[in-house]
Amino acid sequence: MASYDVIIIGAGSVGLPTSFFLAQEKLKVLVIDELPSPGQGQNKSAIGGIRATHSDPAKIQTCQLSLDVFSSWKDRYGDDIHFQRGGYCFPVYREEDESSLKQLLETQKKFGLNIDWIDAHQAVKLLPGISPDGLRGGTYSPEDGNLSPMMASNAFYNQAVRSGVTFRFQERVAGIEKENGSAINVKTDKGTYAAEKILNAAGAGAREVGRMMDLDLPVEPDSHEGGVTEPVKCFFQPLVVDIRAFPGSKNFYFYQEAEGHLVFCLTPEPIIPGTNRDSTSSFLPQAAQRLILLFPRLRNIRVRRVWRGLYPMTPDGVPIVDRVQDRNGFYVAVGFCGQGLMLGPGIALNLVSLITKGKPLLPEEVFRSFSLYRDFGRPSEALK
Ligand SMILES: Cc1cc2nc3c(=O)[nH]c(=O)nc-3n(C[C@H](O)[C@H](O)[C@H](O)COP(=O)(O)OP(=O)(O)OC[C@H]3O[C@@H](n4cnc5c(N)ncnc54)[C@H](O)[C@@H]3O)c2cc1C
Repeated sequence: MASYDVIIIGAGSVGLPTSFFLAQEKLKVLVIDELPSPGQGQNKSAIGGIRATHSDPAKIQTCQLSLDVFSSWKDRYGDDIHFQRGGYCFPVYREEDESSLKQLLETQKKFGLNIDWIDAHQAVKLLPGISPDGLRGGTYSPEDGNLSPMMASNAFYNQAVRSGVTFRFQERVAGIEKENGSAINVKTDKGTYAAEKILNAAGAGAREVGRMMDLDLPVEPDSHEGGVTEPVKCFFQPLVVDIRAFPGSKNFYFYQEAEGHLVFCLTPEPIIPGTNRDSTSSFLPQAAQRLILLFPRLRNIRVRRVWRGLYPMTPDGVPIVDRVQDRNGFYVAVGFCGQGLMLGPGIALNLVSLITKGKPLLPEEVFRSFSLYRDFGRPSEALK
């Protein structure tokens, strides 16, 4: 039976960078995914936003690591992943939103985020054509950015293969064999593989994989939709997040990617639990209304395509990244909600450290926020 230092279940936003960075440490790594090629789970549903602008310090610092990886990738490894450092802007039209975002600035700055409040005049300059009626200003974090999720996953995959990682696609993990509580063999529908360490990075399938180790991981998928327009001349840089709630939706966010297409997404209200990925008839009318409300000049832009994918949610909106107690050799990196792409490389670097040195890269008191053993009833991440 083939045997590995680490087997990763899931070739997605988290599994792919983790495989690459583990191979850089000379570990023998196998990645198994039931889909036919890398990044075909939720990774390809992502619209490509990469921000360190969060309220949870562990997420802030992890995404700062990710931004370093993404922004230097082309120079280091040669692959163009369409990374643009366009920043993030949260324009604000309501007093209560202004005070809650200003309150968050304190934590964000304390943890080293380059972010500030801009006034309405500056916001209009940054976002030409934004509706000025009632605009109070907003937050702006110029070091955040965006990229192509598929180009990024292919880049991680190609470099991982070059570094010696083995991938097995179209193999579904069906069970994990244990000995004295320790994970030892991964069984798929096509074979059995032995490993010193096993990482559950199975995205929306994480709970099912957890059960194979008698673990009940609190990860429940709900669905979100995205869309892309025809390309138009680039006229703004930041990814824009409108945090106002309207009937049927909460946040609405969009940006203009490197080739001029606008890519957009919204958070449905109420949430739509489950794994159905058929496009709904309500998403496009809602998203179009919100886009035109914020940017009236976009009223004639044509939408090319919409899609629906899953957020693997945890109760507090923060992922679970941990070494499992009493299950020697079993690790989890699951529950990435709407932020697995942006957290992926930063989490990968922490996992490599956790797996090879027994402790994460971030200070342990910060990283503890990702613990499997935390109180999931704590106040949830403000910028989910
Ligand atoms: C519309 C939309 C927009 C989004 N926009 C963004 C964004 O702008 N920025 C951002 O950071 N995030 C965004 N996200 C969220 C992001 O896509 C996810 O958080 C992320 O992809 C999760 O990463 P993952 O590695 O946990 O899961 P995935 O990327 O889904 O990878 C998990 C893999 O595990 C495999 N798998 C599962 N079970 C098994 C099994 N039993 N056997 C074998 N293989 C298995 C799956 O096939 C899958 O390929 C968005 C999501 C949606 C739906």
